[in-house]
Amino acid sequence: MEAKRNYTCAVVPCASYDDSLPAMTRALEAIDGLDFVKPGMRVVIKANLVAPMAPDSCATTHPKLLIALTKLLSERGAHVIVGDSPGGVWNSAALSAVYRATGMHEVEAAGAELNRNTDSHTVNIEGKTMRRLTYTDYLDDCDAIIDFAKLKSHGMVGLSGAVKNMYGVIPGLIKPQTHYLYPDVNDFADMIVDINEHFKPRLALIDAVWGMEGNGPTAGTPRHIGALIAARSVYEADAVAAHLIGLDSQGVPTLAAAVRRGLCTNELSDIALYGDPEPLAVRDFKKVPRRSTAFLKGTRLDFLSGTVAKALEQRPQLKRSKCVACKKCFNICPAKAITMVKKGDKSYPRIDRAKCIRCFCCQEFCPKAAMVVHRSVIVRLLQKRPS
Ligand code: SF4
Ligand code: SF4
Repeated sequence: MEAKRNYTCAVVPCASYDDSLPAMTRALEAIDGLDFVKPGMRVVIKANLVAPMAPDSCATTHPKLLIALTKLLSERGAHVIVGDSPGGVWNSAALSAVYRATGMHEVEAAGAELNRNTDSHTVNIEGKTMRRLTYTDYLDDCDAIIDFAKLKSHGMVGLSGAVKNMYGVIPGLIKPQTHYLYPDVNDFADMIVDINEHFKPRLALIDAVWGMEGNGPTAGTPRHIGALIAARSVYEADAVAAHLIGLDSQGVPTLAAAVRRGLCTNELSDIALYGDPEPLAVRDFKKVPRRSTAFLKGTRLDFLSGTVAKALEQRPQLKRSKCVACKKCFNICPAKAITMVKKGDKSYPRIDRAKCIRCFCCQEFCPKAAMVVHRSVIVRLLQKRPS
C-alpha cells in the first residue's frame, strides 16, 4: 500500500453547500488538519462575517461549512466558538444583527457558541511593521484559532482569503483607523502578515464553493467555484485560492509580503498539495488585479515609474445613481478624504484624491454598492490581454 504523503494543503471539489461535510472531512483528513484537537479544548473559528449579509450574497463564510466543521471538532471533544468583528460599530446589537443575517444561528443550533464578548485590548507585538495591536478579547479565551475565510476579490489587496481574514481580529471602527496608519499597500500587507504571525492560526480554511468576484469584498457578484481549501498555513491556503482565480503573489500584496519574509513559496508546485486545482480554476474570474511598474525599473524609462504607477492605480469611484446619501462612507473614511456635497435636496460623497489612501473602506462598507473600484483605461486594456 502506498504510504500517506505529508500533505500540508488540500483543495477538494465541493460543488454545493450540501456537500459540506464530506468535502470538509476529505480535505481535513488529507492534511491531518484536526490532529491538534484534544478533548476539552476551546477552539475559536474566526469566520468572515464582514457585514449583516445573507449567505447567498457570498460575502461571508457559509453556515453549512461552519456547521460541518463544528461537527468534526465536537466529535473530537472540542468546545467550538464562532466569532468575528464585522465592520462598523463593535457592540452586541450590531453583532446580533450580523449573526442573524449571516445564518449563524444555524451554526449555534449545531453546537457552536457564538461569541458575544465585545471587549478588546491593546498589546505590544514584535511585528515587522506593527508594534501595537488592538484586538478582540474572545481570541484570548481559547486554545486554538481556526481561520475560516471566504474567497473574494478585494480592492486593496486583490484577494480576500485566509491572510486578510485575520484583519478581522481588530475591533470594528479601529479597522479603518489602522488602515490609515498603513497607507502604503505593501506596509499594509506586512502589517496583516504581522497579525497572522502573532496569532498563528492552527488551520486555515477557505470557502470557495461560491466566491465573490468583481466589486468585492462586499458588493461584488457571487461566482461558483466549487472548491474547499484547507491548509496548515494561511499562506498556502491563499496561494491555492489565488491560483484558482488566476492570481499569483504579484497580484496579492499579502502573499508577496509572506514570500518576501520566507513564510511561503512563490511556486504552487512547492506546496505539498492534496488534490488537483486545475479543474477547479475559474479562468475568467473578475478580479481587481494590481499592476506593478517593476517592469520599468532599471530601464531608461525608470523616471516614469511614479507617473505610470499613478495612472495604473485603482481608486474608489461613486456611482451616483445607486447612492442613497446615507453618509456611511463619509463616517468610515479614515483619511477624512470624503466630503458630502449638496446636489438637489441631498448631499453626496465627493472624494479628495490627494487625501485618499485607497483603503477601499468606503467601497467595502457602502450598503448600496455605490462605491466601486475604478480602473484606468490602461489597466482595463492590460486586463484584456490574454495572460
Ligand atoms: S455609503 Fe454608499 S450609499 Fe451611502 S453615501 Fe456613501 S456611496 Fe452613497
Ligand atoms: S475615500 Fe475611500 S478609499 Fe479613500 S481613504 Fe476614504 S475610505 Fe479609503
